[in-house]
Amino acid sequence: MALSDNFRKVVPYVPGEQPQKKNIIKLNTNENPYPPSPNVIKAIEDFDGETLRLYPEPNIDKLRRELAEYLSNRYIELDKDNVFVGVGSDDVLSTAFLTFFNSGRCVEFADITYSFYDVWCDVYKIPYKQIPVKSDFTINPEDYKSGNGGVVIANPNAPTGIELPLTDIGKILKENSDVVVIVDEAYVDFGGNSAISLINDYKNLVVVQTFSKSRSMAGARIGFAVANKELIKAMSDVKFSINSYTLTNMFIEAGVASVKDNDYFETQVERIINTREKAKEELTNLGFSITDSKTNFLWATHKSLSARVIFEKLREKDIFVRYFNKPGIDNYLRITVGTDEEMNCLYDALRDIVG
Ligand SMILES: *Cc1c(COP(=O)(O)O)cnc(C)c1O
Repeated sequence: MALSDNFRKVVPYVPGEQPQKKNIIKLNTNENPYPPSPNVIKAIEDFDGETLRLYPEPNIDKLRRELAEYLSNRYIELDKDNVFVGVGSDDVLSTAFLTFFNSGRCVEFADITYSFYDVWCDVYKIPYKQIPVKSDFTINPEDYKSGNGGVVIANPNAPTGIELPLTDIGKILKENSDVVVIVDEAYVDFGGNSAISLINDYKNLVVVQTFSKSRSMAGARIGFAVANKELIKAMSDVKFSINSYTLTNMFIEAGVASVKDNDYFETQVERIINTREKAKEELTNLGFSITDSKTNFLWATHKSLSARVIFEKLREKDIFVRYFNKPGIDNYLRITVGTDEEMNCLYDALRDIVG
């Protein structure tokens, strides 16, 4: 037997490029163009480095309490036992897959969605079925019927930006009441409707959100899940079977500071939404067709030039957008909403390229 016969073989997820070059316009990984709250930066500066000799508080109660309070003000009454915190929502989603998808039946998700879902299924040996979206990229809730091993819906969806109405999420939850339905709301703060309001109505619902996009903290790696206490306990048991200490001391403080500064959060989100709506007009005028994105990115195809050519020409101008070389989406670009200045540079470059 060869050594490698015993390896777990997977084709890994490929994240967007992180070019190390200076002075580029980076619109390729849906990062927030604005810094996190000044209070987050202060929490990091004030952090007492000597406490690094201690392990973090393993339950992350301080941040879970803060999130529960924030979510209670915004959606429905919740406490810390309704909240699971992890190292970015990728960690939270991966824990949820491992915790909930053990029936041996196929987990279902759209064929055009976050391309990490099939990778987690592969690495955890979870069977899955990718369900085609409609030709306009929307998800048909009727396609998700019981008999599967679970459902995952990114809402709004990535990379299309399209939101599935909560009534349709409700239909999927009802139709699949014997399995867990994960709703990945990485982009919901940019104008979507959160399924958190449905948590008391469906005992099979897990909602996952992140600090990476709307809270400008992709580098801090904080994500969380919200669900009823039984589901959160199950995820927590799995976490404590793999790695008790996920978030670090410093970033627990940074996360708390972000949640406390709600005014800053709302102002920055509003800025992105305004820039996005303007971008929809600008891109349309330049000959692009775009979806009605409820996220911090646009999903665009051009009437005459191929996405690949536009992607490459933008790259030559040091403007990075995301291009997926995959059937069905290889004539689309996913363009992160940057600052107004960055977007103006993008429109100028595009005028040059398509004009
Ligand atoms: C960005 C993203 C995530 C993961 O974000 P983290 O940085 O790991 O929190 C999860 N799901 C979708 C759909 C995303 O776009």
